[in-house]
Amino acid sequence: MEKYTKEELEKMNENLANKEVNGWDTDININKIFNFAELYKEFLKNSKVERQAVKEIIKKLDENGFRNINDLEKLNIGDKVYFINNKKAVYALEIKEDILNNINLLGSHIDSPRLDLKVRPLYEELDLALLKTQYYGGIKKYQWTAIPLSLVGVITKRGGEIIEVNIGDKDSDPIFTITDILPHLGREQISKPGNKLIDGEQLNVLVGSQKIGDINGAVKLNILNILNKKYGIREQDLSASELSFVPNFKPRDLGFDCSMVAGYGQDDKVCAFVSLCAFLSANSTKTKGIIFADKEEIGSYGNTGMQSELFDTFLGEVITKLGYTGINDLRTLYKNMNMLSADVDGSIEPNFKSPFDEKNNSKMGYGVVITKYTGSGGKYSASDANSEYVRKVMDVFDDNNIVYQVSSLGKVDAGGGGTIAYILANKGVNVVDCGIAVMSMHAPLEVSSKFDIYEMYKAYTAFYENM
Ligand code: MN
Ligand code: MN
Repeated sequence: MEKYTKEELEKMNENLANKEVNGWDTDININKIFNFAELYKEFLKNSKVERQAVKEIIKKLDENGFRNINDLEKLNIGDKVYFINNKKAVYALEIKEDILNNINLLGSHIDSPRLDLKVRPLYEELDLALLKTQYYGGIKKYQWTAIPLSLVGVITKRGGEIIEVNIGDKDSDPIFTITDILPHLGREQISKPGNKLIDGEQLNVLVGSQKIGDINGAVKLNILNILNKKYGIREQDLSASELSFVPNFKPRDLGFDCSMVAGYGQDDKVCAFVSLCAFLSANSTKTKGIIFADKEEIGSYGNTGMQSELFDTFLGEVITKLGYTGINDLRTLYKNMNMLSADVDGSIEPNFKSPFDEKNNSKMGYGVVITKYTGSGGKYSASDANSEYVRKVMDVFDDNNIVYQVSSLGKVDAGGGGTIAYILANKGVNVVDCGIAVMSMHAPLEVSSKFDIYEMYKAYTAFYENM
């Protein structure tokens, strides 16, 4: 057997073995990283629910010369178009030559876990007014009590007039909360398993306490009267609303070194914001595409979810307006499309190491995460990106000095998850998940690294420019 010197072995290790790279320990431009985080926090603050995010995104697209495809009868090379799906999802393209063979696409989602109002939410009990909610997406229900909540969304009145609601942003606004039992009397509650600490039917938000007269239900009636004066609505209109309670936390710097961002809804608005920035600034000879999807957190259903055929409709309309008429053109386009599913990954956490495989999972601060497959157990429900495609993405990142880590989600059989990747994969698209590692994912306050956020901007730009 051949023997090596210590020096030779060290050199061999340097050449051959994987190296973990902490992003902060690389050659960084701290001003660029911190300035970019400021722009991100502003976007996050204004994008609590998907309708708000769509407004922010369209504002940016309009400023950059994009046009609504409905306003254009024909399209040409160089045109920049978008499609707004029911005010809750957006798709956009910057069209270049040979679109059928060359689209590079980034796709994120702009919905986040929250508490939606039930269809007949308002009631009174013990002379208090409350709104019943149903949670949206995967939450730990106990995390949503005893924190300040904002109410955001829309109410559609008879005849179609839309009322926008946004209570909690201004310092003069009230907030709302779900009360929790005092520890002195919480003996029974605290002995329950975590998923039973707060029952789904206990997610009732306190919204009033003033009794305005001597009839039953006077507290509830006062709330209805206030809503009627403010918005011109009746109780029935609440049934045709999309109102959500979301954490009333402004995005803030986290840590003595201000190296992290703490905020609500970073899954997946961090990828949405960063992909938008890369989409607008990257120089590419190929067609750039971008998706901002809704309903990812509840399985991508509904006409605004990624399973809806409205994305096909948009692309079909684009190629038709470009002059393509072949019945297989859309299929060709999908077959040749390269995509990064821009979504966050759960970071290994110091307080919770046991569900993670430290050798295979991602860590916050270690750069962009390529998640080859998601799913659960025996790779069930995973689209599992092809070797050739993963290597191609890695090549682009290597060539552009991107700090990245290839990862899978958690220990085998610890749980699992998914993104919109498989939906595009089903259409024939080459796709792999690529985002950043987030701590406290799906909690009211999620944590991300400013290094990772900026590195993701560099990675997405490299993808658009070099794939
Ligand atoms: Mn996500
Ligand atoms: Mn999620």
